[in-house]
Amino acid sequence: MGSHVSGMSELKKYFQRFGYLSIPDSQNDNFTDVFDTQFENAVILYQQKLGLPVTGKLDSDTISTITSPRCGVSDTAPRIHATKHFAYFYGRPRWDRGSPLTLTYAFSPSNMINYISLSDIRTVFQRAFSRWASVIPVNFKEIEEYESANIKIGFYNGDHGDGEPFDGVLGVLAHAFSPENGRFHLDEAETWAVDFEKQKSKAAVDLESVATHEIGHILGLAHSSVKEAVMYPSLSPRKKKVDLKLDDVEGVQALYGTNPNFKFSSLLESENASNKANMGLNCKSIKSTLSLVVAVFFLLLIIT
Ligand SMILES: [Zn+2]
Ligand SMILES: [Zn+2]
Repeated sequence: MGSHVSGMSELKKYFQRFGYLSIPDSQNDNFTDVFDTQFENAVILYQQKLGLPVTGKLDSDTISTITSPRCGVSDTAPRIHATKHFAYFYGRPRWDRGSPLTLTYAFSPSNMINYISLSDIRTVFQRAFSRWASVIPVNFKEIEEYESANIKIGFYNGDHGDGEPFDGVLGVLAHAFSPENGRFHLDEAETWAVDFEKQKSKAAVDLESVATHEIGHILGLAHSSVKEAVMYPSLSPRKKKVDLKLDDVEGVQALYGTNPNFKFSSLLESENASNKANMGLNCKSIKSTLSLVVAVFFLLLIIT
């Protein structure tokens, strides 16, 4: 507290950009490089929202989360004393066009990438939309006419006219607008991947994971503080995170209701299965540690 660190103002800009710090009082004032109370509060809010240990300090967990690539949509303030949870945009907007609801989507005729085929991109988006459609009574349908589609998808570079400029490789990956806007923008500067076997770049970003996350925004979900949730704001390069978690499902079903064909038990089973798989790994590592201990013990016996 009170210390002066060169570059601190950049961190303050980052916190301001994502909703944790208000802009300096007078418009000409820039952020200072001083670690002040306001900044500490921003760090605490950020740690709460991102599900980190709340220390109020710029510890390594916090720094590595800040430097990890993320969604460009601003985070909503965490509720005080609330359990970690999904969140909505201000006013809880949703698509309200009768039931059953069908939303149309289309790809921009002019703002696409050419190193992934359109058919691969369409397949990825079909899968991403179908995950959400399987839990709520909403259908998604691809149409040709871009202008009349509810959801408009495209890849854009830098400043592209909506006041939310993209920043080049990594950093911000994509953003989408809350209901009933439907604009869905991906940062063209990223190395997008549909198959990590084919795309070897260390900075490659999984298109399907980002698509699934941004559709959550299109439907009205804001960022969740549950790390495993699809609606968590950050995503590491070369990481795939496409399966909706209980938190995502509860959040979106509270907005739209439940798809009659959806079964909670199958979701719980799949979450349990992945927990068991993790436990399996832990047991394995305990076993190998034990055998190492035994080996060292025998080695000592032989030496003495
Ligand atoms: Zn997001
Ligand atoms: Zn945009």
